[in-house]
Amino acid sequence: MAFHLNKSTEAFNEAKQYIPGGVNSPVRSFRGVGGTPPFIARAAGSRLYDIDSNQYIDYVGSWGPMILGHAHPAVVEALAQAVSNGTSYGAPTLLETTLAKLVQQAVPSMELIRMVNSGTEATMSVLRLARAYTKRSKIVKFIGCYHGHHDSLLVKAGSGAATLGVPDSPGVSDAVAGGTISVNYNDISALTEVFSQYGEEIAAVIIEPVAGNMGMVLPQEGYLAAVREITQRYGSLLIFDEVMTGFRVAYSGAQSVFGIKPDLTCLGKIIGGGLPVGAYGGRQDIMELISPAGPVYQAGTLSGNPLAMTAGITTLTLLSQTPGLYEKLAEKTKTLCAGIRAQGEKYGFTLQYHQLGAMFGMFFTDQPVYDYESAKQSDIGAFNTFFHAMLEQGVYMAPSQFEAGFMSAAHSEEDIAATIAASGYAFAKVAE
Ligand code: PLP
Repeated sequence: MAFHLNKSTEAFNEAKQYIPGGVNSPVRSFRGVGGTPPFIARAAGSRLYDIDSNQYIDYVGSWGPMILGHAHPAVVEALAQAVSNGTSYGAPTLLETTLAKLVQQAVPSMELIRMVNSGTEATMSVLRLARAYTKRSKIVKFIGCYHGHHDSLLVKAGSGAATLGVPDSPGVSDAVAGGTISVNYNDISALTEVFSQYGEEIAAVIIEPVAGNMGMVLPQEGYLAAVREITQRYGSLLIFDEVMTGFRVAYSGAQSVFGIKPDLTCLGKIIGGGLPVGAYGGRQDIMELISPAGPVYQAGTLSGNPLAMTAGITTLTLLSQTPGLYEKLAEKTKTLCAGIRAQGEKYGFTLQYHQLGAMFGMFFTDQPVYDYESAKQSDIGAFNTFFHAMLEQGVYMAPSQFEAGFMSAAHSEEDIAATIAASGYAFAKVAE
């Protein structure tokens, strides 16, 4: 039978009666690409299965966490065992120290680590800490970088190299947004200018060391080192938001790939193995300000939850103990990008392809993409046509030009070959 989403359409309509826009996180609604989002019934390995009995090769992986693939047997078994011991105690467990130790061994700059429940919570808490430590108030972020939905970082930049924050959403007060300065990604002279003007007031610079929320954009040669140098010079803290890149571009994250030591790091996604987790950590002298060791308050009823810790421990253990896993992930991701590129060229399309480890992105433009402005030059109409043609062929890519793609250990060579073949059909559709 031809591809259809009849049951999903019905489910989406019903959901909208109870949930704003029918979803619990906006991009799931397919607003950017149009059409109906498939409602997912279950997932296993590299596949998603929807309620209309369609199946998809999944390159979203729940937006990053599912690096081992869905319902990995070891994770499922560990969770089944853990759940029978109770789901939350609100008291210390051995599991929390085990996961913190695994994270610390992988990312040595995180000398002390606090577990929270999401990436948003991690970046929100880390800013409070940075302000407290430096006794300064301003934060610098980069245009097109996303760090979660709390007020200080939900800030859009205006035009120009640097702009004092303008709220990106109704409800964010000017007072809060005004403390955030936005600068173009990969533009060190813009950052230098901001520091020469506000340097003594800047508590921290927060950056995605590889950007994944304007599509995937790599830092240019020497850029992160320059950011490190300037923050050090002015006594501001450098925060790497590795919620997406941690355990994704490499086991030890982007900081290991680029050889930069931030003062503080935020994690999420993979360290929760598909359950809700975030974490922040860094230099001991800074982290010791966190309550109850120090005066900076931060807490959570479900923080360090035993199920989430169990999924995280099992995932990180498998990732660290499977020989060649990251090399294989990178190789598969390269093969996928090269294959799609070749299909595109057959139909006369020159696109931008970016890849690092198990993370990738493609932009529908023949011009280099290095910041949000250049990312926005992509042909969104072409992307949308491509996206829907892939979906019909059973390939689930992120439903937006401005999101990254994720490979998992469960993707087989056959999955990749099928995806490349589907992309040929999709490019043909774009060319029509
Ligand atoms: N930081 C980065 C780099 C992210 O990609 C995300 C989410 O995609 C977040 C923070 C927010 O994490 P969460 O959605 O878990 O709150």
